[in-house]
Amino acid sequence: MKKAVDIQAAVAIAAGEAIAARGNGTFGIGAVMLDQHGNVLRAMPNGVVRDGLPYDPTGHAERQLIDWYFSERAGGRALPPPQEITIVTSLDPCAMCTGAILSAGFRVVVAAPDTEAGANHDGRCGFGGLPEGLRAQAAAAFSYPAVLGGSAYARVAGGAPPASFFIGKTISEQSQALCALLCEASAARVQALLNSDLARDELKDPATLPAGHPLRRALRRACAGALDVRCAPARPDAGLAPVLRQAMELDRRQGGEGDAVALLDAFGNLLLCVPGRRGESGIRTAFMECTRLYAQLRHRLMHGADARVQREVREYLAHPKHGTFVFARGPGRTADSYMDLGAYGSTMEGPLPAENPAQFQYVLPRLEAGELDALCAALPPLYRKVIGVRPGQVADRDLVAALS
Ligand SMILES: [Zn+2]
Repeated sequence: MKKAVDIQAAVAIAAGEAIAARGNGTFGIGAVMLDQHGNVLRAMPNGVVRDGLPYDPTGHAERQLIDWYFSERAGGRALPPPQEITIVTSLDPCAMCTGAILSAGFRVVVAAPDTEAGANHDGRCGFGGLPEGLRAQAAAAFSYPAVLGGSAYARVAGGAPPASFFIGKTISEQSQALCALLCEASAARVQALLNSDLARDELKDPATLPAGHPLRRALRRACAGALDVRCAPARPDAGLAPVLRQAMELDRRQGGEGDAVALLDAFGNLLLCVPGRRGESGIRTAFMECTRLYAQLRHRLMHGADARVQREVREYLAHPKHGTFVFARGPGRTADSYMDLGAYGSTMEGPLPAENPAQFQYVLPRLEAGELDALCAALPPLYRKVIGVRPGQVADRDLVAALS
């Protein structure tokens, strides 16, 4: 295994992954995971887009590395605890990845800044965008090494001291510029692709598809109860309680606290209802599973299909921004909840449609509404200003009573 004892060498590996990501047509971002001696455990590129189609809104390099780590451990591989492992990223981690990193307890070394979505978006290393209880942990885990030079890419060191195995503790101006430019060069095209879905008035109701239609069959394979429940659009009701309760029970059996997330489409049809898989990886929450499952279902149906079939998928299985995510449990102050809020932002990617302001609903609150609003108002600018992440409780009291 390769040993990267200089921060600069590790950043060069992350930049190599970012180049690969850019070549794959996705965000030009990459990361590498190092053990307690500086050995490379695994490096990964961003994987949000695959084959020219949206593939996984949670497919950021850091998140994938963390799930890889837990799956290796679950498979019996002896790996050091997260506290001894460092993830070196080409770009400041977004809210989802920051939540995932803090939830698991890894350390991070960050190359290029991200003023829109980064943990350190304001550059002050105070992590004021995080729930108060996580700020000290972030300050002790996130390192922003010095970049020597006189250009706009230069910076003084900030955040936590990096792990002691790093000998050289600086990043070259060229590497820093490369990391920043790879993301900049890819962002507009990828965002355009992720926002290329149909408008609300072009969508078709999948409940009208004949029995045995391939889209209907694919949905039912992903979720046995798909299309069995129908609510009024954006008004989840007690008809969802049985499927949510069943998924919550499965979530408990799979290592979670009894959470579940359902996705309704623009017509109020139930598309998916999904538990977490936290026994396999601590960051596989119900929402992470749900948004990934839906995106990958659409990808599978569109990949290699002709234009007519692709259009049909976009009409009947629309982008989730036109529907409603129904969380059995609302966001809390934890790192996992912060990850879910970030992953929700990455799923929406652009502004929520004006006609669908209540896209994010929860049944059982973990926080009172005022505290939750404050938490969302402190998110980095992408989530707060561009997307407008705004969870609200479901209006139907019977649904709340049924899960209480
Ligand atoms: Zn991320």
